[in-house]
Amino acid sequence: MTERPTVLVAGAGVGGLTAALALRGYGFPVRLYERRTGRGIETGGTGLNIWSNAATVLARLGLGPRLEASTTRIERGQIMSERNVPMVRIPVQSYTAPGSSPGVTLARGELVRALLEACEAAGADIVLGRTATGHRDEGDRVRLLLDDGTEAEGDVLLGADGIRSRIAARLPDETEPVYTGVTTYRGVSDTGGGVPAETVHFFQGPRGVNGGAWHVGQDRVAWTVGHFAPAGGRDEPGTLRERVLGLIEGFEGPPRAFVAGTPEESIIRTDLYYRLWRETWGEGRVTLLGDAAHAMPTVLGQGACQAIEDAVVLAGELAAAPADPVSALRSYERLRKERVRWVRECVFKVGGAPRVDNPLLRPLFVRLTRVLARRGQEEMWRALQRPPRLPDSLPVPSDRGRPPSTHR
Ligand SMILES: Cc1cc2nc3c(=O)[nH]c(=O)nc-3n(C[C@H](O)[C@H](O)[C@H](O)COP(=O)(O)OP(=O)(O)OC[C@H]3O[C@@H](n4cnc5c(N)ncnc54)[C@H](O)[C@@H]3O)c2cc1C
Repeated sequence: MTERPTVLVAGAGVGGLTAALALRGYGFPVRLYERRTGRGIETGGTGLNIWSNAATVLARLGLGPRLEASTTRIERGQIMSERNVPMVRIPVQSYTAPGSSPGVTLARGELVRALLEACEAAGADIVLGRTATGHRDEGDRVRLLLDDGTEAEGDVLLGADGIRSRIAARLPDETEPVYTGVTTYRGVSDTGGGVPAETVHFFQGPRGVNGGAWHVGQDRVAWTVGHFAPAGGRDEPGTLRERVLGLIEGFEGPPRAFVAGTPEESIIRTDLYYRLWRETWGEGRVTLLGDAAHAMPTVLGQGACQAIEDAVVLAGELAAAPADPVSALRSYERLRKERVRWVRECVFKVGGAPRVDNPLLRPLFVRLTRVLARRGQEEMWRALQRPPRLPDSLPVPSDRGRPPSTHR
């Protein structure tokens, strides 16, 4: 076997960890650097929809049994009005590709924990509590610069350090993150709050108030409620739940129940940003993946799913040409750009759909949406949920029986 180049990864989010795991399966030495420490890495965020395209990748990487206990299968999606009247119903499970795994909902921390444990078991070297500050491509190797003044040396560097990537900042085409205009509140309710099982329950009200909720195990529901607001706003501690209940005042159905059933201290507020399309994802021995390359608005819940797709395609390209990693990185970028560009187009199309706030016209708008939304929906969801082409030989990373290498 050709000697495998050493891969450095900046960032242990969903994208960086999935890449590390897939690369270990092919036998690449992997060293991953994450700025967060200890349990902070596993507890950020609330819940995620991992649609069939990405759930299939995770299953092929051997995570299926590990995640089964903590995930809920997605059968359908629905968008309800503020009167709890269906606007759109999407039988997403029937729009999955033959042989693929069903989409699932789960707590973000569960996914990160499962990936972290699998990476450790597969022998990835994970260093927590180290922030990447930049990099230097020296032609025949690359150096990752770290906040303690040290440098890590490898053959390839993956910038998987999220929307404010320090690696992306040193590449051409860098732009500032763009505010979507939406601030969102998120939480995990201690009760199901009436959200139907196996359903991703979205809701849309007037004045741009909308959100979603889905089961994350043990009758808990992860939810978001977003609305238009200037960036940078803050709420007084202890007032977030009241604030959210105010936003959904008058909403019928589950939202009020699951927000009321959420401990105040678990509610977080996040301004939503995305990145403009960048043509340059990498150069030389460096490439980007996940939000570092293509952070998109949260509409359709595909950001983490696309990071997972990136990871496995990247690992496959490096495994196909280990002696020429620079060409392998360019090949990965070419393959992924077409797919990600299309997913973003869907996100902006769905996110830009017209709104009607006038209370007299709302019932008509809700009925019209129900009719018009059917058009093209099946085609879009089938294509969104199509997994990347996975090599028949995609190896399941094995448990090397090594003690965890994580430095905390
Ligand atoms: C409210 C909300 C809901 C969402 N819902 C969904 C959903 O349902 N489904 C879905 O697919 N996507 C969803 N997304 C999008 C998803 O969260 C992101 O697209 C995904 O997390 C991107 O993964 P990533 O690994 O590229 O980046 P990140 O998850 O941001 O991970 C980056 C990692 O790098 C670390 N890091 C950052 N800077 C440095 C540095 N300088 N040095 C070292 N480490 C660093 C960070 O601590 C982090 O661990 C949602 C996003 C939001 C905000």
